[in-house]
Amino acid sequence: MSDAPPRLGFDTLAIHAGQDPDPLTGAVTVPIYQTSTYKQDGVGGLRGGFEYSRSANPTRTALEESLAAIEAGTRGLAFASGLAAEDSLLRAVCRPGDHVILPGDAYGGTYRLVARVLTKWGLEYTPVPLSDLTAVHAAVRENTKVIWCETPTNPLLGIADIAALAAIAHAAHALLVVDNTFATPYLQQPLALGADVVVHSTTKYLGGHSDVVGGALVCRDAELGQELMFHQNAMGAVPGPFDSWLVLRGIKTLGVRMDRHCENAERVAAFLLDHPAVEQVFFPGLLEHPGHDIAARQMTNFGGMVSFTLRGGEEAALKVCELVRLFILGESLGGVESLIEHPGRMTHASVAGSPLEVPDNLVRLSVGIENVEDLLADLAQALA
Ligand SMILES: *Cc1c(COP(=O)(O)O)cnc(C)c1O
Repeated sequence: MSDAPPRLGFDTLAIHAGQDPDPLTGAVTVPIYQTSTYKQDGVGGLRGGFEYSRSANPTRTALEESLAAIEAGTRGLAFASGLAAEDSLLRAVCRPGDHVILPGDAYGGTYRLVARVLTKWGLEYTPVPLSDLTAVHAAVRENTKVIWCETPTNPLLGIADIAALAAIAHAAHALLVVDNTFATPYLQQPLALGADVVVHSTTKYLGGHSDVVGGALVCRDAELGQELMFHQNAMGAVPGPFDSWLVLRGIKTLGVRMDRHCENAERVAAFLLDHPAVEQVFFPGLLEHPGHDIAARQMTNFGGMVSFTLRGGEEAALKVCELVRLFILGESLGGVESLIEHPGRMTHASVAGSPLEVPDNLVRLSVGIENVEDLLADLAQALA
């Protein structure tokens, strides 16, 4: 399917790209090729191009073709986690002494990777609020190699203008990297908007069932794709066949899951907006959200993440996290079940005291695909 000339619809690609039925058995589902190595027919005589599963494994290859198709890129690459993908990417495209622009409210793990690991290797960075294009422009230096974009951001659901950032990056001969974990390719196609590389934590919506940790890179330029593939093999942070299979299975239902996530999140945001215990609601679908117009332009819907602050301060925020019954208190996001967390003490504890510190009365919801009336009733009793 991968070289079919007419561009198929998103859900069709999600179900079929890279996943032709097995020619030997007719198996409709791509098998889990649980093997590390492959028999050679004579020295160097490879069947189907596979020689060792760090370099390539058929289950992973199916996932990588699926990723490339759904993000409309030339090459998809799967990794053992989102951070493994980020580390491999940054060390492939940057050299010691290069500079990276990070979002002012970057995912905590991305910030930690750059600030605490890659600075030791010689990388320089500047955190900038990406919604302020003048500030981004001003932060560009001679040695800027990458502008790193997240939109919507975690946990404050800030919106950045991908096309405008691509123009700034390209004028500076830098790459625009977009972490598309929150939006997913179903809602937002960064490569079509000018981004060079898309990053995913497939742990989240692509996997979709909170049962696997994984990451991905998809790029537009074939030459860069070769370079990244070289680093994927040379650095070795690859996922196993079973984890690849789980992500591949999750992707098949991404579209229908996202429709429900978006619908439920919109209802939850409207409910919170009207609640007297709530101070502020962060959701790009709200007209009063500062990034609403850009989100409406570059996304097909507003996603399943909703954050809010409480009038009662940190104490009230922690109490809601404990009083919910259906929302599960836990890190991560993007699974079918609704999750709740306190970013200040949980996902974003690693950025405490840094410029990326989040408000202590903030609560983040990953709105699942349960019946929305049950979710609203749960929040109502927890906020009462
Ligand atoms: C979870 C997450 C990551 C990191 O991915 P892992 O799979 O946990 O390594 C990166 N970016 C965003 C936006 C995330 O939510």
